[in-house]
Amino acid sequence: MCQGIACPGEKNGVEFNEHFYVADLVVDNNKIIGVEGIDRRTTESQIVVSPQVVLATGGGLNFYQLSSNATSSTADGLAMALRVGAQLHNMEFVQYHPLGLAHNGIQFPEPVINAGAQLFNSNNERFMLTIDKQNAEQVSRDVLSIEIEKQRQNGQKVYIDFSHVPEEQKSTCAEAELIAKTYTSLALYKDRFEIAPSAHYLIGGILVNENCQVMTSNAVIEGLYAVGECASAGVHGANRLGGNSLVETLVFGRHAATQLKKLIWKTMSLRLITAQFQK
Ligand SMILES: Cc1cc2nc3c(=O)[nH]c(=O)nc-3n(C[C@H](O)[C@H](O)[C@H](O)COP(=O)(O)OP(=O)(O)OC[C@H]3O[C@@H](n4cnc5c(N)ncnc54)[C@H](O)[C@@H]3O)c2cc1C
Repeated sequence: MCQGIACPGEKNGVEFNEHFYVADLVVDNNKIIGVEGIDRRTTESQIVVSPQVVLATGGGLNFYQLSSNATSSTADGLAMALRVGAQLHNMEFVQYHPLGLAHNGIQFPEPVINAGAQLFNSNNERFMLTIDKQNAEQVSRDVLSIEIEKQRQNGQKVYIDFSHVPEEQKSTCAEAELIAKTYTSLALYKDRFEIAPSAHYLIGGILVNENCQVMTSNAVIEGLYAVGECASAGVHGANRLGGNSLVETLVFGRHAATQLKKLIWKTMSLRLITAQFQK
C-alpha cells in the first residue's frame, strides 16, 4: 500500500523523507507552524516549517506489554498532539487480537480458526466448547479474547493447535506457517503454540472534527490535522470490524488532503489578489 501511495506521490512532486523522525510540533501563538525532529542517518536535528501539519503516525499500541503492532508504533503522534492541548478521545477503546503469540504478541491470522485450528488450556480442555457448543472457537474477536484472558487469569495457559486442520485447508494456514517458522522453533502441525490476546488496534485517539482537524475539548487547533489510526474520527463506535482500517486511513486521508488543497488554493488566491491591489 505504501508503494501504491509513494509512487504516484513522487511523480506529482511530493517529497518523501523516510529517515526524518518527528519529535515534536512547533507552535507559535497557538498555531502550528511546523515540526521538529532528527534525520536518523545523520542524527542532525531539523525543523520543517509548514502552516499545516497532518499527523498519520498510527495507533501506537506498542507501549502495551503484548502488542501486534510494529516496534516503531510508539504513539508519538498522540503524545505530540496532547502536548499542544489536543483531546485524546476514547483511549480505553482498544481492540485485542485473540491469537497473539504469548511471548511477543505477533498474531496468527484469524482464518486459521475457520480452517480448523482449535484452542486448548493447560488441562487439555477445549474450553470454547463450554462457552459456545455450536461455534466453539468460531466466535467474534472480542468473545475469543475475553475467554482466553479469563483462562489465563484462572492460572491456565492457552494453546492453539493446528493438528486438526484438514489437508485441503492447509493453504489457509500458509501465513501461520511462516509466523511459526519466523518467531518460534516449533512445527505448525505438530506442536501447540501458547497464545494470549494482543493489543491490536486503537479505536480512540486524537479527537478530530469532520474535516480531520485536531480538537481541544471545544476548539480547533489551527494548522493541525490527524488521519488514520492515530485519529479518533468516530467511525468504528466502540468496536471495529476486522479489516476495516481503510476508512480511517484512505477515506479520511483523502478527505484531509482535499481540505488542505482547498485551503492552499484559497491562501494563494488571496495572496495574488492582495499583490494585485498593492500594485
Ligand atoms: C499485524 C496487523 C495486521 C493488520 N491487518 C489488517 C487487515 O487485514 N485489514 C485492515 O484493515 N487493517 C489491518 N490492520 C490495521 C492497519 O494495518 C492499521 O490500522 C493501519 O496500517 C494504520 O495506518 P496508519 O497509516 O494510520 O498508520 P501506520 O500504518 O501505523 O503508519 C504510521 C507510520 O508513521 C510512522 N511514525 C510513527 N511515529 C513517527 C515519528 N515520530 N516520526 C516519523 N514517523 C513516525 C511509523 O513508522 C509508520 O510508518 C492490521 C494491523 C496489524 C498490526
